[in-house]
Amino acid sequence: MHSLITRAWVEIDLGALLRNGAKMAAHAGVPLLPMVKADAYGLGAVRVARALEQLDPWGFGIATIAEGEELRAAGITRPIVIFTPILPADFDAALRADIMPTLGDRASIEHWIVSKRPWQLAIDTGMNRAGVSWTDVDSLRDVLPLCPPAGVYTHFHSAELNDASRDEQERRFDAALAKLPVRPALVHADNGAAVEHRGHSRWSIARPGVFLYGVSSGHSPQIVPEPVASLRARIVDLHTVPSGDSVSYDATYTASGERRIATLGIGYADGYRRALSNRGIVLVHGRRVPVAGLVTMDMTMIDVTDVPCGIGDVATLIGADGNDRLTVAEVAGVAEMSPYELLTGLRGRLPRRYLDDEAAA
Ligand SMILES: *Cc1c(COP(=O)(O)O)cnc(C)c1O
Repeated sequence: MHSLITRAWVEIDLGALLRNGAKMAAHAGVPLLPMVKADAYGLGAVRVARALEQLDPWGFGIATIAEGEELRAAGITRPIVIFTPILPADFDAALRADIMPTLGDRASIEHWIVSKRPWQLAIDTGMNRAGVSWTDVDSLRDVLPLCPPAGVYTHFHSAELNDASRDEQERRFDAALAKLPVRPALVHADNGAAVEHRGHSRWSIARPGVFLYGVSSGHSPQIVPEPVASLRARIVDLHTVPSGDSVSYDATYTASGERRIATLGIGYADGYRRALSNRGIVLVHGRRVPVAGLVTMDMTMIDVTDVPCGIGDVATLIGADGNDRLTVAEVAGVAEMSPYELLTGLRGRLPRRYLDDEAAA
């Protein structure tokens, strides 16, 4: 049961997470390197990684040294690969936590290989974000044999569009791979969307992220994930607003007739975005009700005139209630933001509640 002291929380269905991972692995036909960066897209990296251990993943992907240290402290022993370039000042910390860097800069590579510890070569084939350009791989020919990379990878910029850009990036990747003195055993490119659209991977492992967390890339994928995350908040105040009175800051909502307004214990400082002011939809007892007025830092008002409810009742801002459901994609769409941004924006002050994964093991 949800304790009454909790004003708002994120609920994470670890069974659904596992089933999404199993579905993706089966479709890809290769082991996974689940991306658990940004605290597993806001859902809690340690619990998520521990649950995904059951799928025997190749390793885990992160973006900061601290994220890797957290996983190590929690007892994760598989390879942890950091997909943001790290600077030499971070090398000691990476070595201590046994974090495998992805590098593309010659000076960084020269510096790292002194350690003789494994690393991966990042090749940029069009994202223009990180890694050695696919046209410049030759320039590393002398340094690569000194400590050959354990793996090599690239990243698609538009996999979710399922368009010709992916083929072009793979053509560039193939050309770059042909220039390596030795082709590493581990070669990877597919993110979740690439697997969703294409199925069987050409590469050694796949790097899904948001699919595991219940969000599809859309655009008619071949496989669809189960929802994983729900966002819930309690009604903490309830009042009748006379016709003509306004609600919240700047008086952007005016009651047309007498309205019943409930206040939820959640606001933009929790990650319920201000862009949802006067536009968001919330489920109360399985029925859709609108956000009334501006979302404030710690509280959000909704119009519950048509839905009997009381203080302490639970409202669902993302997820299922009764026969209805608000998906991450739908709420993000209303806020005109990406589902990734909405999920990773759910702030640390929201407690995480995990529905057990035992049933799915
Ligand atoms: C975040 C990330 C992924 C996962 O992307 P999704 O779109 O969430 O599947 C894969 N590879 C790299 C390098 C990433 O940074």
